[in-house]
Amino acid sequence: MSKLQPARGTRDIYGDEARRMGVVVETFRRVAGSYGFEDLSTPIFEFTEVFKRPLGEASDVVSKEMYTFEDRGGEEVTLRPEFTAGVCRAFISNGMQQNLPCRLMSHGPAFRYERPQKGRYRQFHQINAELLGPDTPEFDVDMIAMAWRLLCELGQGDKVILHLNTLGDVESRAAYRDALVAYLEQHKDKLSEDSLRRLETNPLRILDSKDEGDKIIVADAPLLSEHLNEASRAFFGAVQAGLDAVGVPYEHNERLVRGLDYYTHTAFEFVTTELGAQGTVLAGGRYDGLIEKLGGPKVAGVGWAGGIERLAMLSTIELEEKRPVFIMPMGEAATLKAYTLAEDMRAGGVTVLADRSGNLKKRLTRASKANARFAVIIGDNELEASVAMVKDLDRGTQDQVTFDALAGAVAG
Ligand code: ATP
Ligand code: MG
Repeated sequence: MSKLQPARGTRDIYGDEARRMGVVVETFRRVAGSYGFEDLSTPIFEFTEVFKRPLGEASDVVSKEMYTFEDRGGEEVTLRPEFTAGVCRAFISNGMQQNLPCRLMSHGPAFRYERPQKGRYRQFHQINAELLGPDTPEFDVDMIAMAWRLLCELGQGDKVILHLNTLGDVESRAAYRDALVAYLEQHKDKLSEDSLRRLETNPLRILDSKDEGDKIIVADAPLLSEHLNEASRAFFGAVQAGLDAVGVPYEHNERLVRGLDYYTHTAFEFVTTELGAQGTVLAGGRYDGLIEKLGGPKVAGVGWAGGIERLAMLSTIELEEKRPVFIMPMGEAATLKAYTLAEDMRAGGVTVLADRSGNLKKRLTRASKANARFAVIIGDNELEASVAMVKDLDRGTQDQVTFDALAGAVAG
């Protein structure tokens, strides 16, 4: 293996893909900003406990996917596999409970040791939003509406389906867990090895097992919705009523679980059929117990994370093409003057590339190839008269423009 290749599951991102991913992040920040979210940037690595404690040893992420290592000082640290735990840690560390609700948005790389395939990498990127404080269903609606708005603005509204479920409160889930385990115990002999292990540690997770044999057993398993207490039923009803009111379409998917202990009530995933097994583009839920689990105050939370690579792949947004202006100084004195003229034009919001070599014909060919809008030519005569020759490459016309008026002439 060549050492000049990136490590397995990691990639260099550039060109159109980099631009698309940039659009996803910009759109996310604009949309979340319109809901009052503020930037939070947490470290890429944390003490391993920060992830281990809330996610739980039994979770897939902790048991097989984390990049954990001992640093030179002997500290056990982990590259973040997701954002929520780090955001909650930051919330506690910085005493943010003084100012609730807290609306925090983040984006950046995350790391999971997975089998790489299209749309699944070991270093990938997420956008992430968390709303900390309120424990009432209206805020779940806000968070889902925000995700929906983002997906629509990325041109994905008709390509994704929102799967929605409730896990109920702690009491309901405990009751359900007992009923589910009792049922699965009867079919123990046919469960996959993974599911047998989960029967002890995390039985709800068996509900979304990908194993064909498990699926058959799960099809007849008792339903969580039959074990919801009154409060949990009301909570879910309010989320559904809110989504209906705001106009977000959804499907109630009883099999959707986010099998971590701290999840309560709402769980959701936006899924597309266009990316095969990597179909979940954005997912989240309510996690009222997490901050306490990390050793913080009793503060509720609801949030979601989206995979930037997957969102970028799906995005139908036309990339905005920025047409540059080419500035072409002929000779040394003109080259020096061109520095400041280029700065003036850039200050006016224009992309300016300097082409300083070859004869005029060659330069104009390069400008056309780069789809430049204007060529700004400065020779000795122009310099003398403080004017530039501006060639409109679309129209094939040319005009003399004074240096003072140049930035205005090529703007817009
Ligand atoms: P999956 O079922 O695809 O493994 P997940 O449930 O592990 O997803 P989450 O932890 O909910 O994913 O992360 C939120 C989003 O981050 C996912 O919906 C997906 O878009 C993206 N994501 C997760 N893991 C990866 C990965 N390894 N590579 C690229 N994107 C990922
Ligand atoms: Mg996964």
